[in-house]
Amino acid sequence: MITIKSQREVELMRAAGRVVAEVLHSLKQAVQPGITTAQLDKIAEKLIRKADCTPAFLGYHGFPASICASVNEEVVHGIPSLRKLKDGDIVSIDVGAVFQGYYGDAAATFPVGDVDAEVLRLLDVTRESLYQGIAQATCNHHLTDISHAVQVYVEKHGFSVVRNYVGHGIGNQMHEEPQIPNFGKPGRGPRLQAGMALAIEPMVNSGTWQVETLQDNWTVVTQDRKWSAHFEHTIVVTEDAPVIMTAL
Ligand code: MG
Repeated sequence: MITIKSQREVELMRAAGRVVAEVLHSLKQAVQPGITTAQLDKIAEKLIRKADCTPAFLGYHGFPASICASVNEEVVHGIPSLRKLKDGDIVSIDVGAVFQGYYGDAAATFPVGDVDAEVLRLLDVTRESLYQGIAQATCNHHLTDISHAVQVYVEKHGFSVVRNYVGHGIGNQMHEEPQIPNFGKPGRGPRLQAGMALAIEPMVNSGTWQVETLQDNWTVVTQDRKWSAHFEHTIVVTEDAPVIMTAL
């Protein structure tokens, strides 16, 4: 069942989402050659707790950190480590925070120092595909109108969308129904209604869409080891335009 959030619930999600947005903004400033992903994790955890939230990912199915930090060919679920970011890398950072029982979830991919133009294009296309998807999240659209818009935009620009991981409903749990694929035909699935809260999160690869999981049982990488980007927002469907909860 897809839950419809009350105004109070939307307000709590907005509070959680704003903290997630602030953390991502701070991490964007902190990302530079030489910093480790573990240092980024510490910065995030401190900011989340200072804002009276708890880190949503820490301990989730045993995940050992407050952020996911996925570098270059890593798609999602990278574990923060002593790995130092290098000039020319990219790092996808996923942040989740809980405020009074309600979740915010967002991700962005940041360039580290000077990054190849084609890699920057991957980041731009992935970010824009998220906004193309969000634009479809309006009353009476079908769920897969979002999926279709993401896929069409990504493939038009010569990249591929990951199939194995999808977006999700969100609220007083991090993962609620429905699942939101980033691919597929439009006009399918439930009709969207005001008060539905969705985490839309295209994962876009520069090569094949196929992925595999490393032996740490978390880190998802592209099968061909070409690079990947990830952008995510938590949004709420309204009678008007969708509202992004995880914006500043
Ligand atoms: Mg998510």
